[in-house]
Amino acid sequence: MERVCNFNPGPSAIPLEVLQQAKEELLNFRGSGISVMETSHRSKEYEAVHNEAQEKIKKILGIGDDFKVLFLQGGASLQFVMVPMNYLDKDKRADYIITGYWSERALKEAKRFGTINIAATTEQDKKYTRIPKQSELKLDPSAVYVHLTSNNTIFGTQWANFPTTGNIPLVADMSSDFLSKKFDPKPFGLMYAGAQKNLGPAGVTVVVIRDDFLAKANPDLPSVLTYHTHAKENSLYNTPPCFAVYVVYLFMEWVLDHGGLDGMEKRNQEKGGLLYGAIDKYPGYYTCPVDKDSRSLMNVVFRLPTEQLEDAFVKQGKAAGFLGLKGHRSVGGIRVSMYNTIGPEVIKELVCFMEDFAKKNG
Ligand SMILES: *Cc1c(COP(=O)(O)O)cnc(C)c1O
Repeated sequence: MERVCNFNPGPSAIPLEVLQQAKEELLNFRGSGISVMETSHRSKEYEAVHNEAQEKIKKILGIGDDFKVLFLQGGASLQFVMVPMNYLDKDKRADYIITGYWSERALKEAKRFGTINIAATTEQDKKYTRIPKQSELKLDPSAVYVHLTSNNTIFGTQWANFPTTGNIPLVADMSSDFLSKKFDPKPFGLMYAGAQKNLGPAGVTVVVIRDDFLAKANPDLPSVLTYHTHAKENSLYNTPPCFAVYVVYLFMEWVLDHGGLDGMEKRNQEKGGLLYGAIDKYPGYYTCPVDKDSRSLMNVVFRLPTEQLEDAFVKQGKAAGFLGLKGHRSVGGIRVSMYNTIGPEVIKELVCFMEDFAKKNG
């Protein structure tokens, strides 16, 4: 059985080298005679992996000791809750920028804890086809933070440049584009990402938190729900998802071996150029609903002239070895999720298939 081209939106493709190394070490991790899954999270073997994974993430982001990297559970969905729970109360306010389904989910939870100002929304007709401009933002000067979703997995939009918010820290759900391009981490009080899109397997959520923002988190919460506990205990307050953290460690090594954020950005821009180039080459046949300056380099969405053609595209794509081309059930169409793992050579193959499909079914 050949491996296929995996465009699944999440959980998603993991580099073959990472899977192979995990396979090699599965039964005997670093000479311990047991698997990393069977090791105590207090063992020196596991702790080394845990700390090295954190160091690699810091190195890739270019951040120093004024940030902490946490490995939490509960997915990005728990961060929708933990962020407002740690920073808001009935007298505190936050700004939320709404650019899609996941922003809406974050907003819903935040409203339980504090007063939320919707600084901008691109919801028009539920279509979310763009990222708002800086000039559209109505920021609340008394906000504790400004929350945004850096890449909208379902609608195929992505912030090309993050907004400026003065002294108010940004908090970002980076689940579907974390470590995919260069950016300035300094304005961010907190970034979070479920690993299953761009970092590894499901089960671990990476939270990067700046020390001065951490200091403002509420310490009077149940222990497992305050950031203070996890920062103080180095994410070993309770048993972490050891195997998932280990695969994240291998994946981060792969990112560094492929040029870090510089390498990822180059790779992702090349892929975007290839795929959007193919879409734009067949106007009226392939149509991307997203504004050009808001196009995502991670999740590329497009339509064909009819739903029948879209079904045929997904079906024939699958037969040709391209998995996961179907758009999210809420929006339909086609979605190509091409996180860091996917190389330009895979997109070249897909582009050939698209050209062929358009010629045969034009
Ligand atoms: C997938 C996704 C989520 C949901 O993550 P879970 O880890 O399943 O909670 C949240 N935000 C974005 C942007 C996503 O793509």
